[in-house]
Amino acid sequence: MKIQAINGFKDILPENVLLWQHIEKKAREVFQRFGLREIRIPILEKTELFVRSIGEATDVVEKEMYTFPEAGLTMRPEATAGIMRAFIEHGLHVQQPIQRLYAIGPMFRHERPQKGRQRQFHQLDTEIIGSVDPQIDAELISMGQMLLDELGITTSLEINSIGCSQCRPPYRQKLVSFLESRHDDLCEDCKRRTYTNPLRVLDCKKSTCREIAKDAPSLLEEVCDNCKGHFNQVQASLDRMGITYTLNRFMVRGLDYYTQTTFEFLTDDLGAQSAVGAGGRYDGLIEQLGGPALPGIGFAMGMERLALLLEQQNNRPHMDSEMDLFLAALGPQSMDYCETLVHKLRKKGIRAAMDYSGRSLKAQMKQANRFKASFTLIIGDNELLEQTGIIRNMSTQEQQPIGLDTNTDQLSNVLAEIVR
Ligand code: ATP
Ligand code: MG
Repeated sequence: MKIQAINGFKDILPENVLLWQHIEKKAREVFQRFGLREIRIPILEKTELFVRSIGEATDVVEKEMYTFPEAGLTMRPEATAGIMRAFIEHGLHVQQPIQRLYAIGPMFRHERPQKGRQRQFHQLDTEIIGSVDPQIDAELISMGQMLLDELGITTSLEINSIGCSQCRPPYRQKLVSFLESRHDDLCEDCKRRTYTNPLRVLDCKKSTCREIAKDAPSLLEEVCDNCKGHFNQVQASLDRMGITYTLNRFMVRGLDYYTQTTFEFLTDDLGAQSAVGAGGRYDGLIEQLGGPALPGIGFAMGMERLALLLEQQNNRPHMDSEMDLFLAALGPQSMDYCETLVHKLRKKGIRAAMDYSGRSLKAQMKQANRFKASFTLIIGDNELLEQTGIIRNMSTQEQQPIGLDTNTDQLSNVLAEIVR
């Protein structure tokens, strides 16, 4: 019996890894432009970290976590909690009042696998910690937008404010009363959510619940003056930068730690999955985890969804050749000669390959093509005797003679010049 990968856990094969590397490279480049530094945090953390930050009554904590109950450990379902734990543990705020961080890596959630939804998936995660300034919110959003733009991915941006610890509790009360008045029409999940996490009813996907949500009191209208002012300034900043967005008063986000600004980058091109990235402010989170009372804001983008969109929106980047030079050796002496040559070229940083099985020239040229080699050097034992090989430019098909020296020193220099 063949052993196969488990459901929701996927291999990323070499052709696709190129696409992933392209996304990661672009992300690092853009994040660094905004002063973010990379942080690498563990995959396994104490379960309590996620329960205390994400919230007990959220889908993630209630039903999506991969937990080892006896050990009290959980595989991270997202990165923010771990980054905040590390931030507090190492007192990063002492070093620098505003910390700008990013992390890239796998996350784990036990949900039903479908296109763009896996159990092991990967996120690009960004955080700016230490400032309540609304311009920081806009700056972070602009960074997400810039990354998507530069990848050539088209999305729409929706924003909302979900208030703070001052204005959300009274709103929540109002919302619960409203939901109770429509209790019988809610789906089973939302009947329960009315008491555990009423805000989530607002973004339930069921059409009946959506109809009810339309009549619900709007949080955007009920937030306090401070939150309103903050949100207005975020919008003013986005306007100044020419970033287009729409207000979505039903967007509440799935994690409890969010306050004030929340946002999502959305697409219609991924079937049931609409969010490519999402984030928001989390002003009470660090304190709640036993750290200093510092605010923060961040977002996460799903790598699988970015990769799918790049392919689907026909923006698969052109991949460079994977090999600078292929050495086609035809005959036992030339094989030994090429072995030395390939070794010297690699030491010079040239990507070089050869075949040791003494196959025909035709077969070896095929192999050079499979490698997407930029050049091929053809050497048979006769050429070796006459000290002249043939170098072929694989894209123009041009061929030229090239002198062969006995100890390959000079030739390796000449070849390095040609293929660089
Ligand atoms: P969704 O509504 O699609 O479940 P979410 O609100 O749970 O998303 P977040 O926790 O905000 O997602 O994570 C940010 C991003 O991570 C999402 O926008 C998405 O691109 C990606 N993501 C989340 N869960 C998955 C998953 N199971 N598989 C692939 N990507 C995911
Ligand atoms: Mg989810």
